[in-house]
Amino acid sequence: MTNTVHPFNTDTDVISEGNKAHSTLLNHTKPQPIAIEGSGLYFMLEDGRKILDAISGGAAVNCLGNGNKELTEVFVNQINKMAFSYHQSLGNEAAEGLANYLVEKSDEDFKSAVFLNSGSEAVEAAIKLAREYWVKMGQPQRTQIISRFPSYHGTTLGALGVGNIPSRRDVSEPLLAKNVYHVTSPQYKRQSYVNKTEEEYSLRLSHELEEKILEIGSENIIGFIAEPVVGAALGVMPPPKGYFPLIKKLLNKYGLLLIFDEVMSGSGRSGGDGLFAYKNKQISEDLDLVKPDILTMAKGLGSGYVCISSVLSNEKITNKIRESGGWKNSHTYQNHPVNCAVARKVLEIFERDNLITSVNERGEQLISELKEATRDIETIFDVRGRGLFVGVELIGSSTLTPRLAARVKDKAFENGLLIMAISGTIDGVEGESVILAPAYTVTKEQISEIVRLLAKSIKEVIIELD
Ligand code: PLP
Repeated sequence: MTNTVHPFNTDTDVISEGNKAHSTLLNHTKPQPIAIEGSGLYFMLEDGRKILDAISGGAAVNCLGNGNKELTEVFVNQINKMAFSYHQSLGNEAAEGLANYLVEKSDEDFKSAVFLNSGSEAVEAAIKLAREYWVKMGQPQRTQIISRFPSYHGTTLGALGVGNIPSRRDVSEPLLAKNVYHVTSPQYKRQSYVNKTEEEYSLRLSHELEEKILEIGSENIIGFIAEPVVGAALGVMPPPKGYFPLIKKLLNKYGLLLIFDEVMSGSGRSGGDGLFAYKNKQISEDLDLVKPDILTMAKGLGSGYVCISSVLSNEKITNKIRESGGWKNSHTYQNHPVNCAVARKVLEIFERDNLITSVNERGEQLISELKEATRDIETIFDVRGRGLFVGVELIGSSTLTPRLAARVKDKAFENGLLIMAISGTIDGVEGESVILAPAYTVTKEQISEIVRLLAKSIKEVIIELD
């Protein structure tokens, strides 16, 4: 498996305009453009430029845009009322309230929740929780996890070990868990078996998973982790037809747990009827069958106003853990009252303002206008997505056209549009795509403007490359 280009491009060419040689922040080799103010879907930069944000703050986070006064009010009120209490010492109303809200919105698919601070923490906690379930079930030999390649589940050592993007793992590789196996992550149009139907492709991938289960020995496996819609690893990739029902049937057959990582695709981002991506019929297909045992959330949950993530677990996990005195996982800021109060308000605003309906409608508009506007651009290979979670795949081998998506991202920024670029060839499969995931409050006019600016940027990059 080879990975030739870093799939996350944090350094952009436009960055070089600053007058410092480098940023004091360690991630960045060049000074970044500094955003001094955010309002709705716009960022105002230090140099006076105004940028339209088509990616919710840069990483599909800020689902309500900047400057939401209701959230500010809840934040300040909660700090005034009670800024902090340590979860092991005292409970708090905000965390209890948010947990109840999520359980209710899941139609009780889940019976409990915990709140952490980042997506990576949630993924690690989900794995620990799944492992603990099996230990409490008297099956401590279950130590192996099956994940997919490529996949991104976070950046801390545990989460990095679960995911697989070689360029992200490289220096940390010797430190990563050795109990994780990776099977192919579906990318129907890119793979060489395009002449097969989506259903046949899904069947092939389910056979691969079954072979892996048999190779490891089902009695040694904790479970399988996947994103319902792949985000950063593949530039938004919804599952092919039939995929999750086949996978879930297999997991049931061998008695393995299903962990859905909805850090990026959840909290309403992928549309459907509510907060959870797996409850979108266009993702899971069979809603009675495809239910996860454990689910992670982050990003949109706090919408960038607070740093919060969550791990939800179903009845069997919840009961088993409770039987033996509750869960020992403990972070200082777990179930933080301010984070939970703000997240609850975020979700209430989604519901009160019918924003998931807007996600569906604006998402459909985005995809159809993108298809229309890019019809004459030969380099467009695919426009795909669910809800307001959309990927535009640009043909062009990253060897022939290095960093094509990153160049489009830089050009879009010059043109006043913020998007995300995923560049890289993974296992010989080209992957040059940009992600669009604007705030749920995006207007019809702003969608058209996003499409116009992106199409213009792609065309300008093509002309420059000729
Ligand atoms: N899981 C998925 C699917 C993600 O997309 C991400 C981040 O992009 C993470 C986990 C890690 O979340 P965080 O960056 O908040 O640690």
